[in-house]
Amino acid sequence: MAIRFHPKPEILIKYASGHLSSAYAMAVELHTKFCVGCSNHVTELENIGGKLLNSSQNSSVTTGFDELMLKIDNLDKETNKPIETGHIPADINTIMQLAKTSGRKRNWKPITSKISNLAVDLGNKDYDVNLIKIKAGSKVPAHTHKGTEVTVVINGSFKDAYGDYNVGDFLIRDASYNHSPTADVDCICFAVTDAPLHYTGLFGPFINWFAGRQSNAFRH
Ligand SMILES: [Zn+2]
Repeated sequence: MAIRFHPKPEILIKYASGHLSSAYAMAVELHTKFCVGCSNHVTELENIGGKLLNSSQNSSVTTGFDELMLKIDNLDKETNKPIETGHIPADINTIMQLAKTSGRKRNWKPITSKISNLAVDLGNKDYDVNLIKIKAGSKVPAHTHKGTEVTVVINGSFKDAYGDYNVGDFLIRDASYNHSPTADVDCICFAVTDAPLHYTGLFGPFINWFAGRQSNAFRH
């Protein structure tokens, strides 16, 4: 199945230049493992960045690279998140391996009878990073996002009112979306949220309370 949802160019630029938070960088890295087009684009951007960096070191004149960095800084102001650079503490192969572990393994925590999650520690308290497993035939309770949720499909597929999503698809959801994903086959997603999800359905208040308890438990 072809990948239809990709990170926007500005996100790839931030990723290639090391100006994305470790959590979002992991999401982009996962996407590039499945998407040859974005992977090639990142390589091109890294090459361009390297050349511009070299030219800026040989000149005192403000360069295109500086302007690029300024644009990137401004992008970060939009989300009011501090720029976090450096290596990703959790290895991407570990994430892929975790995604293959059975739902009965103790690290997976049930959210409902058919939905479970596994917290991923990237050493960044500004984000909740989880693998989310949705069993075939189940429906995630309707929820909105107080902040931004980035999702990458690792296994299977799911759909909501906005579309169908398959392996490799990269999605960004914010408070303007109220969705209730369903899965026809078992689905595992990598998800980064910068604020807790807010469930709005019939059992929303209970799930909000339960998810909050789970989320707090994961931090320790
Ligand atoms: Zn892509």
